[in-house]
Amino acid sequence: MDPLGKTVPSFGGPAKRITSRLVRLHGDGRTHTSLPEDAVNTSDILFEDLPEHAPIHGRNHKNASTSLRVMKFGGTSVGDADCIERVVEIILSSSRESNLVVVVSAMSGVTNRLTEAATQSEAGDRETVTSIFDCLRKQHKAAAVSLIHSVEERNRICLQIEEIIQEGEHLCLGTILLRELTLRARDAISSLGERLSAPLVAAALASRGMEAEAIEATELVVTDSNHGAAEPQMEATRRLCEGRLRPLLQRGIVPVVTGFLGATAEGVLTTLGRGGSDYSATILGAALEANEVIIWTDVDGVLTADPRLVSGANTIPEISYSEAAELAFFGAKVLHQKALRPLMRSGIPVWICNTFAPERRGTKITPSGSQNSGGVKALTAIGDVAMITVGGPGIMGVRDLLGRTFTTTAAVRADVLLISQSSSQNNVCFAVPAALAECAVDALRREFAKDLADEEVEHITLNPIVAIITVVGENMRGTPGIVSLTCNALSRENINVLAIALGSSECNISLVVAREDMKASLVAAHEEFFAKVCPCSNGSSR
Ligand code: ADP
Ligand code: ASP
Ligand code: MG
Repeated sequence: MDPLGKTVPSFGGPAKRITSRLVRLHGDGRTHTSLPEDAVNTSDILFEDLPEHAPIHGRNHKNASTSLRVMKFGGTSVGDADCIERVVEIILSSSRESNLVVVVSAMSGVTNRLTEAATQSEAGDRETVTSIFDCLRKQHKAAAVSLIHSVEERNRICLQIEEIIQEGEHLCLGTILLRELTLRARDAISSLGERLSAPLVAAALASRGMEAEAIEATELVVTDSNHGAAEPQMEATRRLCEGRLRPLLQRGIVPVVTGFLGATAEGVLTTLGRGGSDYSATILGAALEANEVIIWTDVDGVLTADPRLVSGANTIPEISYSEAAELAFFGAKVLHQKALRPLMRSGIPVWICNTFAPERRGTKITPSGSQNSGGVKALTAIGDVAMITVGGPGIMGVRDLLGRTFTTTAAVRADVLLISQSSSQNNVCFAVPAALAECAVDALRREFAKDLADEEVEHITLNPIVAIITVVGENMRGTPGIVSLTCNALSRENINVLAIALGSSECNISLVVAREDMKASLVAAHEEFFAKVCPCSNGSSR
């Protein structure tokens, strides 16, 4: 029993097994702790020698009775049992300082495999589908065995895993029979990963003595019916979160919520788009008016470029909402592109921190960023884009060229990532996601068929293999020379710029290059802005 007289889940394993302090936070602000006599407190070990600003965010300056953090753990962070153990440590430590709502992604790679199962079901490939689900079953049950010490609890979670896997198999079987994958079925299949990981994480916490409850976000996040890219309805979401989560928080129970998914007001499951668990976290943060949202991932924060592409990239201590949103929009996977939207009004800060190095400070994303930051903040790139050009001599006189072009791309749901227009209305080129490019070109050719019927020149052309490099920094505004520095850096590497767009906000400059030049362009521009002492760089990166 803990000091409050509640039953504490028993600790399995060897007598000297490292465990963590049990914490109960109460409405009156009291913190009650109990520590098994022979236990070593890993929470203390983990964070013992950290500087004050270490990512026990808000440490020592928040009232535990009122402060609330939403903490989201991405796919790599919950990738296997060892990773989940780390996550548990972080949650146990943070729970000493504030109330927590935890949001989890699917284990890494799981959503890709589920999407593959959905696609192969439509193709009728029963064998592949069976093998994917067998593999997922084994993976999740193995993690349950390793994380959950009570046999009874372990059996309960394994049964739950089995039920969810069988639900997936049935959905795929239906798809195989019909040879049709509806958007609704695709969402139901691709979101199974979060529904598998949330009970695992909650059970792992319970195994370490923390009261936690896995909750499916269909109970919390109300969305429109735009399957695959659903938008939250915040008022309804707020009401559900207050009704379902607040009572748990008041009782010291940590809700572990499935990221990525929600449901329409009628209860039909939807998903928020790939990488959408970040969005789930900020939706819940806004709905509950949390003090901060912490995105735990596999890098040290927002870096000056994707470290997978630029080895010398540095962590940015603080960045503004606009800068982070631009980076996310232009391909920085570290944050979902819509994640900051729910927070715009409240200004709740978001931290990006490393699950595998929680002692590092991470990046703080705030409405205005750091006061002293100037010039270029970071670089990013998107590789899977295509460039469409509508124009040429024969297009002269085509009425309402721009209006009709973009109404047509919108109708096929091809988001336009960048537009560059020549000096007259007669030539416009723009970039769209590669997957939708051919469809967009076909639709444009249909739209302009009549106008172009007598012309021999091809007016609508597609370059399917390009990339966009984007230079981001709010304070680039008014700093001369950034375009030329970027172009010079690329030209030194003999890289040809196909198009360029500079927004009037001057928060970003985007350049289109051949896809094979993407990495070299990023490295060259990074060298230009961050390796040298440059009046345009933010100075904090080296
Ligand atoms: P999670 O599974 O935790 O959601 P993601 O894979 O979605 O993690 O996002 C983290 C990845 O984002 C990093 O591993 C990194 O390769 C990539 N990334 C791209 N651009 C940046 C950037 N500017 N700063 C940090 N990481 C970036
Ligand atoms: N699991 C989902 C994906 O892989 C959502 C997420 O991880 O944020 O896209
Ligand atoms: Mg992600």
